[in-house]
Amino acid sequence: MPFFIEVILPLSLPKPFTYAINEAEYGFIKKGMRVAIPFGRNKIYTGLVTDLHQNPPQLYQAKEIHQILDDFPIVTETQLKHWDWIASYYMCNIGDVYKSAMPSGFLLESETLITSKKDFDVSDTQLSDDEYLVYEALQKQSALKVQEVSAILNKKTTLPVINKLIAKNAISLQEEINEKYKPKTIRYIRMPQELLQQDQLSGLMELLSRSQKQRDAVMYYFQLQARDKKPISKKQFTEESGTSVAVIKSLVDKGVFEEYILEEDRIQFEKDDNSGFQLSDRQQEAFELVKQSFDTYKVTLLHGITSSGKTEIYIKLIEEFIKSGKQVLYLLPEIALTTQLVVRLTAYFGNQVAVFHSKYSNNERIETWQQVLEDSEKARVIIGARSALFLPFNDLGLIVIDEEHEQTFKQQDPAPRYHARDAAIMLAGMYDAKVLLGSATPGIETYYNATGGKYGYVQLTERYGKVLPPEIVLVDIKDKYKRKRMTGHFSDTLNEAIAEALSEGRQVILFQNRRGYSPWVECMTCGHVPQCPQCDVSLTYYKFKNQLRCHYCGYNIANPTHCHQCHSTDLSTKGFGTEQIEMELKGLFPTKNIWRMDQDTTRGKFGYEKIIDAFKNREIDILVGTQMLAKGLHFDNVSLVGILNADNMLYQPDFRAFERAYQMMVQVAGRAGRKDVRGKVLIQTYNPLHNIIQQVTNNDYPAMYKEQVYERHNFKYPPFYRLIRLTLKQRDYEKLKNGALWLYNVLSQNLNIPVLGPEEPAISRIRNEYIRTIMIKLPQGNSIGGTKRAIVKILDSFDAIPQYKSIRVSVNVDPY
Ligand code: ADP
Ligand code: ZN
Ligand code: ZN
Repeated sequence: MPFFIEVILPLSLPKPFTYAINEAEYGFIKKGMRVAIPFGRNKIYTGLVTDLHQNPPQLYQAKEIHQILDDFPIVTETQLKHWDWIASYYMCNIGDVYKSAMPSGFLLESETLITSKKDFDVSDTQLSDDEYLVYEALQKQSALKVQEVSAILNKKTTLPVINKLIAKNAISLQEEINEKYKPKTIRYIRMPQELLQQDQLSGLMELLSRSQKQRDAVMYYFQLQARDKKPISKKQFTEESGTSVAVIKSLVDKGVFEEYILEEDRIQFEKDDNSGFQLSDRQQEAFELVKQSFDTYKVTLLHGITSSGKTEIYIKLIEEFIKSGKQVLYLLPEIALTTQLVVRLTAYFGNQVAVFHSKYSNNERIETWQQVLEDSEKARVIIGARSALFLPFNDLGLIVIDEEHEQTFKQQDPAPRYHARDAAIMLAGMYDAKVLLGSATPGIETYYNATGGKYGYVQLTERYGKVLPPEIVLVDIKDKYKRKRMTGHFSDTLNEAIAEALSEGRQVILFQNRRGYSPWVECMTCGHVPQCPQCDVSLTYYKFKNQLRCHYCGYNIANPTHCHQCHSTDLSTKGFGTEQIEMELKGLFPTKNIWRMDQDTTRGKFGYEKIIDAFKNREIDILVGTQMLAKGLHFDNVSLVGILNADNMLYQPDFRAFERAYQMMVQVAGRAGRKDVRGKVLIQTYNPLHNIIQQVTNNDYPAMYKEQVYERHNFKYPPFYRLIRLTLKQRDYEKLKNGALWLYNVLSQNLNIPVLGPEEPAISRIRNEYIRTIMIKLPQGNSIGGTKRAIVKILDSFDAIPQYKSIRVSVNVDPY
């Protein structure tokens, strides 16, 4: 009797493949183990076993595996079930899910490049003969393909050797980013304890009697100490007091001051060191309600305004779950947010917290994977962005999804295009775990479910410490322009508010939802606007680099001196982005530290963290940025938030535009006035009476919801209809047009539900590929499975038509 296994490959293939094994292997292999298998011509991949059986495949001759890579399963059966669900719900291939779920260090293949690790010390570590050979070869050659290792070792079966070397930290995969987060260090000054005794102070002043500057510095130190009651950084001190570095040095020499260094993270630990905090009455009440809600509902929404202390409630809840031996998953929309949270959670839970994210090296990700699999004490709470959903949990009790409304939870490209919130709810169901969704501005669909009895609902309407919500002031810029009260893009009102906040030693955040200097350049003679030659968009002007750039493909040219159409030199920039705001600010407040945070300034590794750190350390007075600023970050010293132009958020061609504009404005506004000051938010707009602007001003989520849900109902959008968007791409315009029409016709004739399109999207060409979209709307209650199967069938027949074969179609279920 022959023996077979079903194996998933890390390739975009819809089904597992059957491979042949011998009887001994049959006795050893379990579902969830990896095997090295040949596929295609001379290629080796790491496949995953999903089944064992004795039925030879009908259509092909089963190949034999090369070898077994694991001693025990590294993927659980629940994971496999969850991956199957993702593949079927999001209409992608199981191979796509496998490939994106596993750290790439688990998926060696013949083409993978390996390199040596610089800091590896061979004398410290035992290497086998084979391992040593590979190590040695890598000292001479910067990188090797896995395939080439076969030649060096003179055998076919090399993946175990390479896996061992990775485990021993001797080598790494070439594509990976191997930088770890290095905590930033900051210099502080303080006065030695013994000098602070009452009886020493007069002596101290006498000691300094000959230097007015030194006396001033000491007096200022006392003032700061009394005001802030926290460590005083050298930088903050010199800047605020105007003391020179030389004066500080002589004070240090005299023993009046001493310098010390702390890591930025350590400060956090100290501040939260009495990390055993108490919930406020309101928080306690919400906490109890959440627990009660869990008795009835699997999913509960915690709708708490910004700064109400949702995180504290999560922490208390997590504590109860891990006490009862459960694992907890904490999902965040953005890995950049993890640093702050990790500090907070480790201060509370110590090293029971593990972090899983794509910026970590493969070795670290593999380590976390193993810890979760073994249910280790080191990984009771896992913090991560959406990919942490794929870890091999075995006793998951709770999933917390913070900022659940964030669209970054939805993966766009490549497949699987899953929504981490929804996939997490599915996963929780498989473990019988609870889900807590948290947000100050819940997604419309979530609020619909929470108020419609599908999810539990708990509200928290008070900021922690009874801090008042920020005062929101609208500035009508149409009127300001008319009355000539604008300087560049700043109204006199905004300008004065900034000056006032800065004079009080506060920091300011300014929000503008566009980057670059201005989004387009226009010829004033003929109206020509320079376009990207490869995409259907105008080029964005960057003043500092004196360039025009495409935001879709990166194409760029030097800023033209004359119009390419009519040669006129009368060119004008239109609209404005963050770069322009930053430059105007530098003119308005020349002595202040002004930084910008957008995709252009945060490109490098940790570019984002660097800016956040500098802002927290008060090295920045005014921070200008795009929606990156709106994420749940906490800054104690911000008293003013300005929104430069609320209008461009409102007019986007997307049924979620209003919802998003509301969320974005409320979230940015929430950055103002945390802790001890009431914050102020200034919104500049041409439409102060627009409903969304009014709803933001009144902090009236229910009104926003009511209006939006009414529109959604009328125009057949979620939560009343599920959407499936097909995107077709092809370089040949005519071919695409015909293919899209064919597909549209067949779909609408066969599906019996609304099919819209084929539409040219707002940007209808990117990198020389033309784009068409088709939208399918499934009414709630319609058999989703049946409709999806029908769609897949139609897509298969589309693929079988020779002239359309080259049109690429991607499927996006629940597009965002
Ligand atoms: P949210 O996530 O709801 O916006 P946070 O949980 O971040 O709010 O809380 C806002 C601020 O208030 C944080 O600085 C937090 O440390 C503080 N805070 C909230 N609740 C408490 C508490 N019970 N004890 C001490 N500090 C708290
Ligand atoms: Zn012109
Ligand atoms: Zn382009």
